[in-house]
Amino acid sequence: MIREILHFPDARLKQGGQSVANINGDLVQTVEDLVVTMYDAPGIGLAAVQIGVPQRIIVVDVNHEEPGKDLLKLINPVITAREGEIIWEEGCLSVIDYTADVKRSAKIEVKAWTPDEKEIVLQAEDLLAVALQHEIDHLDGKLFIDRISRLKRELYARKVKKLLREGRPLEPQPRKGKPTI
Ligand code: ZN
Repeated sequence: MIREILHFPDARLKQGGQSVANINGDLVQTVEDLVVTMYDAPGIGLAAVQIGVPQRIIVVDVNHEEPGKDLLKLINPVITAREGEIIWEEGCLSVIDYTADVKRSAKIEVKAWTPDEKEIVLQAEDLLAVALQHEIDHLDGKLFIDRISRLKRELYARKVKKLLREGRPLEPQPRKGKPTI
């Protein structure tokens, strides 16, 4: 089922997610909802926190030429190694009409569980590394705008408050050919 995506400044985005203690039918349903909501958006990653489920679950698929082929469904993901630096222009399905350069680790190793209860370790670089770090941030209640300068963040917050005051809906504008993390 396609779920509603929460937008900044919704307080639930700041609460982050709890570790998943057991993989059950509800969790499998949440994962499937995340997948269809991500593709519908369209996005290349989505965290359960963004649909109002405060659990440590993310889905990522950076291969939009062949959707589903490289789809990752990760439970309790943890970054276990980092290397280098990369700057990427990030957007977010929860942060409407805004992108900014964010500094991340260029290569990471992530340990996680899959919905079929397998423990996996994966190596990621470039866009996949960026997307995984971005989604894992959501599980800690962090948005990419928490990683830019305070001035830029406050200007953005002011713009959103103005839109809300004017009663304008917080609908993301499609980005030309650029999927949103
Ligand atoms: Zn995001």
